[in-house]
Amino acid sequence: MLTGMMMRRQLTMTSIIEHASRVFPDTMIVSATAEGSRHSYSYREASRRIGQLANTLAALGVRPGDRVATLAWNGFRHFELYYAIAGIGAVCHTLNPRLPAEQLACIVEHAADRVLFFDPTLASLVSQSRAAFPDDLRLVVMADGLAGCESPELADVMIYEQLLANAAPDCPWPELDESVAAGLCYTSGTTGAPKGVLYSHRSSVLHALSVIAAGTEGLRPGNVILPVVPLFHANAWGLPHAAPLVGASLVLPGPRLDGPSLFTLMDRERVTSAWGVPTVWVGLIEEMRRQGRKPQGLVEVIVGGSAAPAAMIEGFEREFGVCVVHGWGMTETSPVGTLCTLPEGRGTLTTGAEINKKLSQGRPLFGVELKIVEDGERQAHDGKAAGELYVRGHSVTAGYFENPAATATAFDAEGWFKTGDVARIAPDGFLQIVDRSKDLIKSGGEWISSIDVENAALSLPGVAMCAVIAVAHDKWGERPLLVVVKRDGSEVTREEIIAALASRLSKWQVPDDVLFVDCLPMTATGKVSKLKLREQLAPQGN
Ligand code: ADP
Repeated sequence: MLTGMMMRRQLTMTSIIEHASRVFPDTMIVSATAEGSRHSYSYREASRRIGQLANTLAALGVRPGDRVATLAWNGFRHFELYYAIAGIGAVCHTLNPRLPAEQLACIVEHAADRVLFFDPTLASLVSQSRAAFPDDLRLVVMADGLAGCESPELADVMIYEQLLANAAPDCPWPELDESVAAGLCYTSGTTGAPKGVLYSHRSSVLHALSVIAAGTEGLRPGNVILPVVPLFHANAWGLPHAAPLVGASLVLPGPRLDGPSLFTLMDRERVTSAWGVPTVWVGLIEEMRRQGRKPQGLVEVIVGGSAAPAAMIEGFEREFGVCVVHGWGMTETSPVGTLCTLPEGRGTLTTGAEINKKLSQGRPLFGVELKIVEDGERQAHDGKAAGELYVRGHSVTAGYFENPAATATAFDAEGWFKTGDVARIAPDGFLQIVDRSKDLIKSGGEWISSIDVENAALSLPGVAMCAVIAVAHDKWGERPLLVVVKRDGSEVTREEIIAALASRLSKWQVPDDVLFVDCLPMTATGKVSKLKLREQLAPQGN
């Protein structure tokens, strides 16, 4: 073999932020703060503060390989931490503030975090958990003062801006190997105990490049990207890396993610492309209908994390001319695995066939390989055969952090990662997620996809949100139960819903019963939690 004669430069986080500050110095990062004010600065300014923060971390005793935790909403200081922590060879461990205090403490202990940076709005969660945190965990509030940190448990908290003010501005970044760990995120425990995924510099840079290469409308120089998806979950889908890499602005929305707040923010900042889970878009689209218009400048909405319902795609595209891109991924896949960017041209679609295409989760990103396995056999990519989805690629986990037991069962003999999702792949490469295997309903000999039934139910005018779960049945083993949150003012009845579904679904797929509730339980990442729903609805004594 002949070795290529090219320079070997490492793919690192530092290379991204240095590129942004050199090539797009005046491109902006705008943050909505918890207090309702607006903060904005450029990539050049962000890069300068990231250098100061790196010096601060070193002064606090953070060494390469140490884990540094964040507990924060999407904002500029959180962005700075991503780059400063990784830049000195330490690991940015994002914690999910929606987790219960006990689970947070377990995760902090498992990760052996050295320092915890937290938003002042989350101070009470930190003080509640303090007794359960390791004694030597150092605390820094991401603010310019101690407001909110008055409780005795937080007596020794340090202040972010004070630390920065005392730090030298220039950071001589170490030459890191690209395989060094940069980030750590625990799965949110929707279907099992949380497990740590340890991202490397290389996997994060390649993931960001691959997301850009998928060809969304948003990720281009000069555009404005809104990650509604949190920085604390799976790298906000890689956007804090991809936006500076490509020269797009970032708008970081802080804690207010309801429809009216998002609308106002998007309208004011002329957001081009907004990324988030379907539950977030339910609120936004309601607000768009209320105002009779879209936020100015909005071209595209990226929907992932759970299936995008047809009614949502049609609403955005037909009513408001906003292009929807559906995607699939997991914490373990960095997280974006597929995106449904269509070759047939950009913009919005009108025909049913095209909407159907958009219901699929799209094609794999560069470097992502997919296969479908049923009963140990690899299945054809013919759009018909369904089986468990396995994945491999340069940004797919190779094992869980300090968890040999979970790692041992997560891969097949060839090293492919088993996703736990059931899917089909069409001959043209488009992925269709049928369901999580744990959410499929086994009725007689047939599998019923809860996603298909939910999609049909969400197309009925009276249904605002819904979830389908299995209930035990003497004859059929399991049957689907539809749990519905009605649209405001709707008087829709159980019988009307069942009759309407009977005309849209095969007979065996139609739920036997409909239950109306005021709200559905959510996971820590903003998806409907079927685990909690099953627990809530379990017959007493089970
Ligand atoms: P959690 O399992 O706690 O939700 P993740 O964010 O890692 O944490 O979720 C990954 C899972 O979310 C996938 O395995 C899949 O079941 C589901 N998922 C992600 N995107 C989609 C999508 N577009 N359609 C259907 N399911 C999706």
